[in-house]
Amino acid sequence: MSEEFPFDPVEVSRRLLAWYGNEGRDLPWRQTRDPYRIWLSEIMLQQTTVAAVIPYYERFLHQFPTLPALASASLDEVITLWAGLGYYSRARNLHRTAQQLVAEQGGAFPESIVALAALPGIGRSTAGAILAIAFDKPAPILDGNVRRVLVRLFAWMDDPRSAQAEKQLWAWAEALTPEDRPHDYTQAIMDLGAMVCTPRAPDCDDCPVQKICQAFQKGLTADLPVVRKKPKIPVRQQVGLIVCSPDGFLLRQRPPEGLLGGLWEFPTLDLPAGLTAEQAGARLLSDLSLRGSLKKSGEIRHAYSHFKLELSLFKVDVGSAEKVAESSEYRFCSSTELEHLPLHGAHRKAYNQLSNDH
Ligand code: SF4
Repeated sequence: MSEEFPFDPVEVSRRLLAWYGNEGRDLPWRQTRDPYRIWLSEIMLQQTTVAAVIPYYERFLHQFPTLPALASASLDEVITLWAGLGYYSRARNLHRTAQQLVAEQGGAFPESIVALAALPGIGRSTAGAILAIAFDKPAPILDGNVRRVLVRLFAWMDDPRSAQAEKQLWAWAEALTPEDRPHDYTQAIMDLGAMVCTPRAPDCDDCPVQKICQAFQKGLTADLPVVRKKPKIPVRQQVGLIVCSPDGFLLRQRPPEGLLGGLWEFPTLDLPAGLTAEQAGARLLSDLSLRGSLKKSGEIRHAYSHFKLELSLFKVDVGSAEKVAESSEYRFCSSTELEHLPLHGAHRKAYNQLSNDH
């Protein structure tokens, strides 16, 4: 055995497949080989836990049971169903991919890594998962769980996110993926990472690959993967206005592309240097060509992936606001409409807080 490959790769799949037969998870997307359903589950599971995904997956399939059904929906319908799951570019990419597959491939998924990875929102690992799980083809995957398992299995001692690690881990992932039963193997290694070789306190005593795991052999399970220093997350301060008129609440829809694209929100402004929150709120109100007195309504703190938001909110009652209502990005919405619109996290919290105060 070479130093780089300290055990027989066949041993890994043999042990994992035997374990998976008894211990594998019974998940809703495991009842099917339909590539549409497998793809949907894989996209939803990116950066999201199984427990959070299950109700969304079921609601989504109830409304869009097939790829053509999703392709013919409006983006607003898709984003509304996605609201709360986060990372909204995933919803936009799902919609674009569905439309592209229906228009160009007659609604069929391609059966190669290169063609799958060329679709919006599908990276190499997701392409591998679709090929292996839906089509039983031996394609490697390297999602977060599998990356951790391989780092420990081979005792990789450097930053697991470096370019060098990326190359090495993919090579190992490929070498371990068997020609026989890639569908089961892929789900088995995913399950091992999720259930046994967990980020903290891996359950090595019950691990089917303990005998060949290099981290276990060397007493390194608590030290791997090596933790990278996380960059400090910036804090963004904003002021927001909850403008109430006889026509409802004033909201605007964010542009379709970019951060939180397509989601709805109350009017907001980044807090300008040298202004208090109240002064900034008054400026925002004037920018909207509205008049009224600002009443402090609360503070919301919300963490997004790349920043933390501190939002100071003011409530303003206005008589009529036709000028703003005519502007395309703003709209007055009744509270019933607002309940169903996809608001982004901080603003949903703000609205809930307001409703609870009344
Ligand atoms: Fe992970 Fe422990 Fe199994 Fe190694 S022995 S793969 S560290 S659970």
